[in-house]
Amino acid sequence: MSASLLSPPLLRGEGLPDFPAITPEQVRQQIPLLLQELNAGLSDLEDGLNLTLGSSEPLGWSQVMDPLQRLGERLRWSWGVVSHLNGVCNSPELREAHRSQQGAVVAFGNRVGQSRSIYHALKRLQEQHRAGSLPLDPTQERILEAELLDMQLRGVALEGEAQAAFNTASEELAELATRFGNHVLDATNGWSLALNSTEEVDGLPESLRQLLAQAARDAGLKAADGSEPSAEKGPWLLGLDMPRAMPFLKYSRRRDLRERLYKAQVSRASSGDLDNSPLIERILTLKREQAARLGYATWAEVSLASKMADSVDAVERLLEDLRAAAYPAAQRELKALAACAERHGAAEAGELKPWDVSFWAEVLRRESFDLHGEALRPWFPLPRVLDGLFALCGRLFAIRIEAADGEAPVWHPDVRFFRVFDAANDKAIAGFYLDPYSRPGSKRGGAWMDDCLGRSRDAAGHPVLPVAYLICNQSPPVGDTPSLMTFEEVETLFHEFGHGLQHMLTTVERPEAAGINHVEWDAVELPSQFMENWCYDRSTLLGMARHWQSGQPLPEAEFAKLLAARTFMGGSATLRQVHFALVDLRLHSAWSPATGLSPEALRRQIATTTTVLPPIPEDSFLCAFSHIFAGGYSAGYYSYKWAEVLSADAFSAFEEVGLENEPEVQSTGRRFRDTVLSLGGSRSPSEVFEAFRGREPSAEALIRHSGLLAA
Ligand SMILES: [Zn+2]
Repeated sequence: MSASLLSPPLLRGEGLPDFPAITPEQVRQQIPLLLQELNAGLSDLEDGLNLTLGSSEPLGWSQVMDPLQRLGERLRWSWGVVSHLNGVCNSPELREAHRSQQGAVVAFGNRVGQSRSIYHALKRLQEQHRAGSLPLDPTQERILEAELLDMQLRGVALEGEAQAAFNTASEELAELATRFGNHVLDATNGWSLALNSTEEVDGLPESLRQLLAQAARDAGLKAADGSEPSAEKGPWLLGLDMPRAMPFLKYSRRRDLRERLYKAQVSRASSGDLDNSPLIERILTLKREQAARLGYATWAEVSLASKMADSVDAVERLLEDLRAAAYPAAQRELKALAACAERHGAAEAGELKPWDVSFWAEVLRRESFDLHGEALRPWFPLPRVLDGLFALCGRLFAIRIEAADGEAPVWHPDVRFFRVFDAANDKAIAGFYLDPYSRPGSKRGGAWMDDCLGRSRDAAGHPVLPVAYLICNQSPPVGDTPSLMTFEEVETLFHEFGHGLQHMLTTVERPEAAGINHVEWDAVELPSQFMENWCYDRSTLLGMARHWQSGQPLPEAEFAKLLAARTFMGGSATLRQVHFALVDLRLHSAWSPATGLSPEALRRQIATTTTVLPPIPEDSFLCAFSHIFAGGYSAGYYSYKWAEVLSADAFSAFEEVGLENEPEVQSTGRRFRDTVLSLGGSRSPSEVFEAFRGREPSAEALIRHSGLLAA
């Protein structure tokens, strides 16, 4: 206790981080100290291993894997805190501190990943195991195999110059990824448009006008008469962040403004100082060279080596199946939008542009389902949605979730902390932070789950409970009104919570394979997308959707419309994902400078069969495709659809027993907890899936849920 109080907060290496105590200054000072210590520890480990490897003595698991795990965990804990804060409390100082240390962190990771002593020690363990002299359980076997593959992919088998070139390229890639992401963030924040007359906000719902007025206040704008911006009178400040841009494209009756916003959005980070185009070519070229050094033909093959999909062809086949089902549906959908515009006498009816699609889709949705996305917000105040989500998890997985605000330091006053208990014995099993609201300028967009603490044991052998970060970007409360969520935001929350459940409900004893660790990328979206399905389940949805003022439940008719609307524009949505996935896959399998095509030109070629409205000339979507250029999804974007096959099929197990059949739903839920959520990365994803489903995955449920069967 006293020791941990004395150590600097960033180096404590265990327990819940003391976020408010961590400063950019400490990052610059303490990360180098930590790396110094870890490098010394690694040298000691290598020396010890070399001695044993040089003799004929057998090696034990605890001589290699345990110390390795401890070294990795120290760095993961400290650097995880820095990366986390960089995502949720970004400032120029922190960003600079993060950037200044990243190279050294990557270099240490490479040193571990390329340590020949460790590699040979792992090989020795594998040989001993194969010879029958070292018994390993299946989890250990999988950890060992995955670590060996990981080391091979990190270039451990490379010699001299090739290895040096590999390391230099890895560091450059990490730096390029950070620059790419920062360019997107800066380009997003760097654009705004002040709207001063009520005509310019024609069609916008009240919540959006409030949000835009709040943004105007935050930016220090004043009305013409010098008064503060208001939702009624403006001025309103439009921006490119999702909570402002998406609804504007959906509701604004000002086609000229939609066009301006759309063009600004799709051309983000594609010119001037923030131009990502040169970075894209450099990243793709470096990755191709890295692949060649590792003995693979393309980066896509490197990516698939550690995934559930076993070849580029297998992925192409899945994407083609979905494309073939989705394309005609998307064409029909576009025609229906044009017909709708025509009925309204809109000038654009003859030639819809991309900035018209969201708008007319919303009009048609309202007409077809009499359902107004914004109008449903009052039924989804965040506190009620959380109650509903927690009750569902209680039913399905026999857990209890309790607010524990104040029991853990947080990085922003909006952040909440919760504890998770096993309902069977009331034992605490996990915890999580929830950071729900958008903070333009300092918080990265999108939603994600990350691990704060993984399930393990501390030095004294006491269990360490897993703790997750759950980050969303929904509209914050305005005045006395709580955060009222769109149905999509509810789905997003359920999605991230699914990731969180796999992290928190793990029963794997070995931290290397606990939670989402070592779960193949293309299977990692199984629990998250699985949870989204429950937003369409009658008792779940009607149980949680209550009007925040009247307390009235969501009318039955509205629920029926939600169900009908689920597959609305489903062909277009599927096609869009296929487009992204195929662009990503081919950029990493078929593109090289020798093709004579720019990456953007290749994307436009792919667009001829994967979009029904071709990209406009200004569209430089690749320049903001952070998933693959700043995140970890390169040659892996297809994973969303791959895992969706798994998640839809998993949910169909509940449909088969009958969603109103409570005892069967509960026992199926327990089985889901005992397989997918518990076993995580300790078994192969196909094995885990079959343990739950009793058979191999089938795409039937996904095609049915997406409404593409009728095609
Ligand atoms: Zn996800």
